[in-house]
Amino acid sequence: MPQPARVRFAPSPTGFLHIGGARTALYNFLLARQTGGQFLLRIEDTDQKRLVPGALENLLASLRWLGLQWDEGPELGGPNAPYLQSQRKEIYRAHADELIARGSAYPCFCTPARLTELRTRQQQRKEPPRYDGLCRRLTPAEAEARRLAGEPHVVRFKMPHEGATSAVDVLRGEITVQNKDLDDSILLKTDGWALYHLAAMVDDHLMEITHVIRSSEWLPSLPLHAMIHRAFGWDEPLWCHLSVFLKPSGKGKMSKREGAELMKEGHSVFVHDLRELGYTPEGVVNWIALMGASFDERQDVFSLQELVERFSLDHLTPAPAAVNFSKADHFNGVHLRRLAPEELARRMRPFFEKAGLAAEEDLLGRIAPLVQERMVTLEDGVEMAGFFFREQVIPAGSDLVGKGMTPQASADAVHAASEILARHPDLADPALEVELRALAERLGLKPGQLFGILRAAVTGQTVSPPLFGSMAIIGRAKVLARLAAAESTLRAM
Ligand code: GLU
Repeated sequence: MPQPARVRFAPSPTGFLHIGGARTALYNFLLARQTGGQFLLRIEDTDQKRLVPGALENLLASLRWLGLQWDEGPELGGPNAPYLQSQRKEIYRAHADELIARGSAYPCFCTPARLTELRTRQQQRKEPPRYDGLCRRLTPAEAEARRLAGEPHVVRFKMPHEGATSAVDVLRGEITVQNKDLDDSILLKTDGWALYHLAAMVDDHLMEITHVIRSSEWLPSLPLHAMIHRAFGWDEPLWCHLSVFLKPSGKGKMSKREGAELMKEGHSVFVHDLRELGYTPEGVVNWIALMGASFDERQDVFSLQELVERFSLDHLTPAPAAVNFSKADHFNGVHLRRLAPEELARRMRPFFEKAGLAAEEDLLGRIAPLVQERMVTLEDGVEMAGFFFREQVIPAGSDLVGKGMTPQASADAVHAASEILARHPDLADPALEVELRALAERLGLKPGQLFGILRAAVTGQTVSPPLFGSMAIIGRAKVLARLAAAESTLRAM
């Protein structure tokens, strides 16, 4: 048995949960569940300027909707509370002090004006922007005196000038950088708030995180992060940077702007949008799980539980994955078909309500099997089966005219069919279809011609769930009323 993993998802509430974040959360969750460990949720909200209203609530709701319930974190608490970094300011400050005491960090008093000037000069000389180490050369006594006098300062990491730093990424192997190529990064800002580099490393240590599974945007910072752990004398977690998402075209990284464009086409990279568009958590989880990992060569449809059973870091790949919405549709359809009719009905209901249709769950449960085979999203249910709940339907006149027939002949066919239907108290009677087929023959029509007219008249659509099953559910009175309306439309043509 592998060691129980303690892992975390650590989003910043600077935006709503998108599929990139959701996938990071998912892989962390899977590893925790697979190994009998814990999945923590930590909110990295120290950059108050970038907070987006509603983002935190959205992250929590979206994770829960996907089924990724955390074991420790906001709303639950846990042994390492608080789980909001904004409530941990003092912890980071104390750790910054410790690094200074250990000689691995130093206060830097340089003003923004000096730093801007420094950068401009470096740009002119085509040098990489880098802090020049002015305050690094202060004696500890000088620095301490200026600190005590209250002079504004940041705290910087004292990157060694010589040597190289290596760190291992689980998916990519050893990564080595020359220390002279690294900057003295800021750990603590003038206002006393820690930056990600310090806050996340401190928390990962204090929260006893065993694996840091995160977005590959942090790969360039890996050497610094490893160094910070080492400077404190801590053991490092295992590092795992996930693959990037590419635009559907495969060209270039997925960005927020693309996201907005996608919504216009009925797609989205945001979890709450997908939910509103009628995707299911099962479909979304299956879809994103496979973007960056392969679980089984012979199979690609998995429930969350099946993913838990199969998950391993070995299945992850660093290769970029293009976001493919037809796959989202595919997996969603597959998972919709796996639902029991009552469950499908329960999930479709809000979509009918949104469309202004009062759909009782019982009735929806009987309709579910008729539409389940062809649905891609829950929203499709409304389009396919809305006619069951409407008082009347208004078919296009041209749809009421049978193929190759005149409106008059079509009206006569509707009339004759109505007479047959009127004699059947129960439209589920199998004899009904036999009689209508006989009618078609008597009128010299193909069954498809007659049924096409009836379908348009009864459902208002040219494509619908099976005609006889649908008529049985709509009920005789409503069916006859719709046929009468269709007949008069045809007679007036
Ligand atoms: N707050 C960071 C982000 O949202 C977290 C990265 C991490 O997982 O460590 O990108």
